Amino acid sequence: AVIDTGIDYNHPDLQNNVWSNPGEIPGDGIDNDGNGVIDDVHGYNAFSDNGDPMDGQGHGTHCAGTIGAVGNNGVGVVGVNQNANIMAVKIFNDEGSTDAAAIVRGVQYATKMGARITSNSWGGPRPNSAIREAFEQSPSALHLVAAGNSGYNNDWLPSFPANYALDNIVAVAATDHNDELASFSQYGKKNVDLGAPGVDILSTVPGGKYATYSGTSMATPHVSGAATLIASQNPDITNEELRARLEQGTDQVAALDGKTASGGRLNVHKALTMELS
Ligand code: CA
Ligand code: CA
Repeated sequence: AVIDTGIDYNHPDLQNNVWSNPGEIPGDGIDNDGNGVIDDVHGYNAFSDNGDPMDGQGHGTHCAGTIGAVGNNGVGVVGVNQNANIMAVKIFNDEGSTDAAAIVRGVQYATKMGARITSNSWGGPRPNSAIREAFEQSPSALHLVAAGNSGYNNDWLPSFPANYALDNIVAVAATDHNDELASFSQYGKKNVDLGAPGVDILSTVPGGKYATYSGTSMATPHVSGAATLIASQNPDITNEELRARLEQGTDQVAALDGKTASGGRLNVHKALTMELS
């Protein structure tokens, strides 16, 4: 699940890889699967508490494309997992605002509906016990979260959800084309797990379009996409092993040494194929 500003689920480079709720009949005004949300065909709008997670902002659609834009279709881009199955969970309105209750509803929906991986390209300096609890009570999922874009060390100045000390949260810093830590990227040997590309990332945006964004928001879905590949190849994998594959399956890079727990930047092939130590 992409827990963000929603997804343009009609984007031609995404629509075949957007999750469909098997128990829901579209447009009949009835909560067919009895999960508390009417006509939640592609996910959930947790901000407005309805079944339409359409993205009117762009950020979530961009993240979704990095995870799983459709491959071999002759247009646009391809995601890390070209056969991804992406649930849209909208926790922000189209102006980019939200509140803790909406975030909690979003995490709870993704959990209830069986998301194995969630991608969370959002955060802030203030902890919230209800949001922490929502993640804690979601042990069936591994949650990838962005380290933040203010350039500081999260071990000194915390950022959340990155700094919730939970086994099912993995925090991601952003690297650039030269395997340097992006100038904006937050980091932290204790609280940030690995790096991934997050500078000048081309991906999908609403209206069938594409755009180039930078941020730990763009790094996080690269790791989320890798996590979905690992989980699909190993359906019974535990979160512990999944996170070990992500962290140990990195290329060690000097810029991340001492700045992330793994000291490495995501290497998808290695994460999928390595023998765990
Ligand atoms: Ca429903
Ligand atoms: Ca329905």
